[in-house]
Amino acid sequence: METIEADVVIVGGGPAGCTCALYSARANLKTVILDKNPAVGALAITHQIANYPGVSSEMSGDTLLALMRDQAVEYGTDYRRAQVFGVDVNGEWKTVYTPEGTFKARALVLASGAMGRPASFKGEADFLGRGVSYCATCDGAFYKGREVAVVGSNKEAVEEAQVLTKFASLVHWITSNDPKDDDLHAKDLIAQSNVRHWSKTRLLQIEGNEGGVTGVQVKSRSDENQQALSLEGVFVYMSGSKPITDFLGDQVAFKEDGGVVVDDFMSTTSEGVWAIGDIRNTPFKQAVVAASDGCIAAMAIDRYLNSRKSIRVDWVHS
Ligand SMILES: Cc1cc2nc3c(=O)[nH]c(=O)nc-3n(C[C@H](O)[C@H](O)[C@H](O)COP(=O)(O)OP(=O)(O)OC[C@H]3O[C@@H](n4cnc5c(N)ncnc54)[C@H](O)[C@@H]3O)c2cc1C
Repeated sequence: METIEADVVIVGGGPAGCTCALYSARANLKTVILDKNPAVGALAITHQIANYPGVSSEMSGDTLLALMRDQAVEYGTDYRRAQVFGVDVNGEWKTVYTPEGTFKARALVLASGAMGRPASFKGEADFLGRGVSYCATCDGAFYKGREVAVVGSNKEAVEEAQVLTKFASLVHWITSNDPKDDDLHAKDLIAQSNVRHWSKTRLLQIEGNEGGVTGVQVKSRSDENQQALSLEGVFVYMSGSKPITDFLGDQVAFKEDGGVVVDDFMSTTSEGVWAIGDIRNTPFKQAVVAASDGCIAAMAIDRYLNSRKSIRVDWVHS
């Protein structure tokens, strides 16, 4: 598999990650953004962003984010869609693992936001990594010819279920509500011959044994009784408000509220690793705050990598 080296690797392509990339790419640092899905972050799902300075109050978060991303790419950022599932921050070169390849960076920036959630379904935590997964691109191939469930109705759930249709014999798509009538991606998914949609249905429990997941219990609103489905994989895509840090292990320090600890320069407790935006669990989660974090980190990284004595302001062009 491909190994790519860069000066700066940024995990997450929201306003924090894109702003950091804009500044680091403009500072001539080879910059890579790894973003699992540009449509599922906090800014991407914001219907209207009326308080970002200088842009129309009619603008959607998605449009603003596309502008930020395009600007970063225009200045040389290598933007890639990839879900980071692990990092190793030991040593001078930080390693970032994705299903698409391994990335090595002299500076690693954590910008994955705070749309995560704790494992909350009965059995979810017990079988995590043994049948329960949050990444179809990472784990889908393990379920060739087997039955799996996808839980959730957001864009990520729909896209990840599509990935699983390439491998699984049957994908049970469990949603507590019906997808909207104009959701063409959901319609395409339901039309697949190996998808069974469990509409208005709740996941009650994930069951299994020492070998891993063996099935789930579900309850449909139209049925008085719960039903047991035999399957081997459960892919959960539900959004919450917890910093997304599952790919970090204990390699940086966290606050009690789950946010990553940083100093004034957005440096984490691990040298060469920065954290920006909602992953810090800031008290004021706003796009402009995330963008500001990204700018601070990029300028600090420029100084760190070039061992500069003072931070160069971005508006001085020599
Ligand atoms: C419903 C809603 C409405 C809001 N309205 C406003 C508003 O009106 N004005 C305002 O200023 N702010 C608003 N906010 C807050 C604002 O959107 C956030 O503060 C801001 O988007 C945080 O930026 P971020 O870059 O830290 O995270 P995000 O925008 O969440 O971006 C994180 C990115 O990281 C990616 N990612 C996550 N995990 C991984 C992984 N393992 N590997 C690779 N990529 C990963 C995600 O796909 C996503 O693209 C709103 C938030 C929500 C949820």
